[in-house]
Order: sequence, then C-alpha cells, then structure tokens
Amino acid sequence: MPVTVKCPTCGKEAAWKDNPYRPFCSDRCQLIDLGAWTEERYRIPAEEPESLPGDEDDDDRQKVR
Ligand SMILES: [Zn+2]
Repeated sequence: MPVTVKCPTCGKEAAWKDNPYRPFCSDRCQLIDLGAWTEERYRIPAEEPESLPGDEDDDDRQKVR
C-alpha cells in the first residue's frame, strides 16, 4: 500500500516517501503554497494600520463628546 498524501495546493495524491516536496506533489506546488503564505502575511499587517487609525479616531471623538 503506497503512502500518499493529498497535495494542499492542487489536491493531487502525492507520494510521501522519498518526496522532498511533501506534503506537496512537486516543487511548483510547494512554491505556490509558500508564496500564498507570505503574501497573506504581508497583506494582513498592511491592511490593519489603514483601518485601525480611522476606527480609533472615531472612538476617541465619541468618548470626548
Ligand atoms: Zn500539487
């Protein structure tokens, strides 16, 4: 019985044994997943400062009034 895992990127069955890219099926899927990860990590902090100062401003004004 071959040990396989589902590639998180494309959903294909990928060999677990002797697979340097596991749990991915190929280096391409590994790079795609890592790229999506880093993109998300950079996107979230970039969006937060944009919305937070506006919210804080509104809160402060309401508290003062
Ligand atoms: Zn894949």
